[in-house]
Amino acid sequence: WSCRAVESERTLAMIKPDGLSGNYTERIKEVITESGFDIVKEAVVRLDAERASLFYVEHSGRSFFDSLVKYMTSGPVLVMVLERPDAILHWRALIGPTDARKAKTSHPNSIRAMCGLDSEKNCVHGSDSPQSAAREISFFFGDARSDAVEHDEL
Ligand code: ADP
Ligand code: MG
Repeated sequence: WSCRAVESERTLAMIKPDGLSGNYTERIKEVITESGFDIVKEAVVRLDAERASLFYVEHSGRSFFDSLVKYMTSGPVLVMVLERPDAILHWRALIGPTDARKAKTSHPNSIRAMCGLDSEKNCVHGSDSPQSAAREISFFFGDARSDAVEHDEL
């Protein structure tokens, strides 16, 4: 049997507080579905300082950390589990570089160029590796392999 399906992969995408308050959700979801992703889970979440610090624990020593936590707790976020082949790399390519100001010149069609402001307020998140994706999906939705939490209420 040679007609094996291409294996799909899951990543965690997030619309950060500035993306939600700036009403970019519909446009971002259009890009997501037009790019061949299925949104398999989603939830609107309000992070407190403790949860935001835990989510970004790898950056806890950085000079921008306190500001980052303040930004991430300034309003609700929309977290989504996206699925398609090569989801992790594909979503990272669509969102563009971390610094949204640079994205506007180097990657003008990226999501961060569309709705981000600078190196902090860059409107979206994407897991950067299979390990990060597994950790971040279970951070918000529990076991990464479980389908028990399909489409949380918005
Ligand atoms: P990415 O989100 O592209 O994976 P990082 O993991 O390096 O970027 O950083 C996590 C988040 O921290 C960024 O999305 C951004 O909101 C914030 N951040 C990163 N670098 C800076 C910086 N130099 N100044 C302020 N905020 C930053
Ligand atoms: Mg990162």
